[in-house]
Amino acid sequence: MHYMTVPIFKKKYGSEAACLKALLEFRMNGDGLCFNPLCKASIDKYYHPLKGRKAFICSRCLKHVYPMAGSIFDHSHIKVSDWFYIIFKMLYSRNGISANEIHREFGFAYRTVFKMLHQVRGLMMDCLDFELANSVVEIDESYVLTGNKGYGRHFPFTRGRGSLRSTSILGIIERRGIAKFIVIPDTSATTIIPEIIKNVPTSTLIYTDSWGAYNQLKSLGYKHAMVNHSKYEWVDSNTGASTNSAEGAFSNLKRCIVGSWRNVSPGKLQNYVHEQAFRHSYRFEYDYGFEILMRCFPPLSDVYGEKRKAA
Ligand SMILES: [Zn+2]
Repeated sequence: MHYMTVPIFKKKYGSEAACLKALLEFRMNGDGLCFNPLCKASIDKYYHPLKGRKAFICSRCLKHVYPMAGSIFDHSHIKVSDWFYIIFKMLYSRNGISANEIHREFGFAYRTVFKMLHQVRGLMMDCLDFELANSVVEIDESYVLTGNKGYGRHFPFTRGRGSLRSTSILGIIERRGIAKFIVIPDTSATTIIPEIIKNVPTSTLIYTDSWGAYNQLKSLGYKHAMVNHSKYEWVDSNTGASTNSAEGAFSNLKRCIVGSWRNVSPGKLQNYVHEQAFRHSYRFEYDYGFEILMRCFPPLSDVYGEKRKAA
């Protein structure tokens, strides 16, 4: 098995103590020394768990350190080991998980779980800050059905481009690499082009379909090739251009929405698509990017450093 399984995960992060220790290690400085600048004892050697508290104490300078401070776990009544397992479930699932599923499995209130999952998605967003250099990307746009609050059941919604019922998403998908999904108000060139300029450097080769909004990419300095889907052609025989990876990534995203998230409000959609972008980008990692995600928390020295300055 090339990927981490649930039993292996449970063995590693099964107990509360193990999770707190892991969290401390994910968030300590690169040198692994005590956060007290006058102490500088090795955390590995001198930090011991404090009984009855979610904290560690340095046996040399007696500093108390709470590994959950300043993270999404702070002030949560859910156990850290449950948080860890729920996050792992989010990562290894192919079609996303719904808040109701977690509510039924653990018995937490639906609102609590809903909020937890969105906090994790917010953390994923901080993690998805990639540089695309000298790569091949496929850019495509698609529409997903979003919440219909405020419209009657018989409102004559149209389908596809420009429908009130659907929200547009721009996908920037690197071949065998990372993905970015951006929620956009419409699919006109004035909306799409600034997003591409912001996210894609000019050293990148871009493949798109023949939607007119992409016409000006060449004049902006990008290497750009199109595939003409209206000619029933999926790979351009001259340039090798295709948007098949993008179509695949979008179809996975839509399966999450149709299958698990069910009713997505347009306002929260960006948060949801970050989750799928994260899963897509780290799909080749042994632990589906769990450790990468855990290292996205601000380092503990940020939390304990500021207090020290104020004192
Ligand atoms: Zn110390």
